[in-house]
Amino acid sequence: MTLAYGGYQYRQSHLENISLGEKVTELEESLRLSEENLASAETEKAQLADQLNAEKARVDALGEQVGEISDTVGDLDKLSKLDPELLQKYSKVYFLNEHYVPSRLASIDSEYLYNEASSQQIHASVWPFLEDLLQDAANDDVTLMIISGYRSFGAQASIKSNYSVTYGSGTANQFSADQGYSEHQLGTTVDFGTPGVSPTTLEFQNTDAYRWLLDNAHKYGFVLSYPAGNTYYIFEPWHWRFVGTDLARDLHQDEKNFYDAEQREIDTYLLNIFD
Ligand SMILES: [Zn+2]
Repeated sequence: MTLAYGGYQYRQSHLENISLGEKVTELEESLRLSEENLASAETEKAQLADQLNAEKARVDALGEQVGEISDTVGDLDKLSKLDPELLQKYSKVYFLNEHYVPSRLASIDSEYLYNEASSQQIHASVWPFLEDLLQDAANDDVTLMIISGYRSFGAQASIKSNYSVTYGSGTANQFSADQGYSEHQLGTTVDFGTPGVSPTTLEFQNTDAYRWLLDNAHKYGFVLSYPAGNTYYIFEPWHWRFVGTDLARDLHQDEKNFYDAEQREIDTYLLNIFD
């Protein structure tokens, strides 16, 4: 009995042990499955997050591309409205067409004219820069005056023929440059003068007005087209051309002449010439 009881006891607890062991195994199994599910859910979540990020990056890149394209379109549109002649170098082989006329001309205020009776014009987009230059010079007690601005092909041709009659054509080419001629026809170029000095003569190089221009004209986008010692044309201290403030500043910094710079390099400044 005792044995039987003991056997029962034994069997009973054995059975209990088995079922407890099975339960633990079951629990362990379900825990393992849960962990697996959790792990795969996490993997899936990570994959979804990756996909989301990739998609976001793609949308950002597209946005950037659209931005770049619209910038390019904007630049192209701006360039299409700018006259490529504005930054061309003129030489004996390359000069402006006789029919060329600037897109818009503005009158220079008579208070700034060397000869108040003459009327002078300048490219309308250059006038604000020139007016600032003239006013700032005046604030520095330097009197700069405009002897001439825009000259049409016809006006220049008659000046040149007068020179030709007086001096013969060889000398006329020296007095009245084919290059200077084109630059005045462009509408962006002026001849400066100052009181008490004969207009468009080398006397101008010894004036405060000329020294002020050498130090400051670049800030307003103007450069001296034919400096002393240039190989293109006779020295014209009075003759200044507008090329935009960026190009004028860089040429001034590098102590370079507009006519010595590469045309390719110069052309990169066209987009922002009036900024
Ligand atoms: Zn000139």
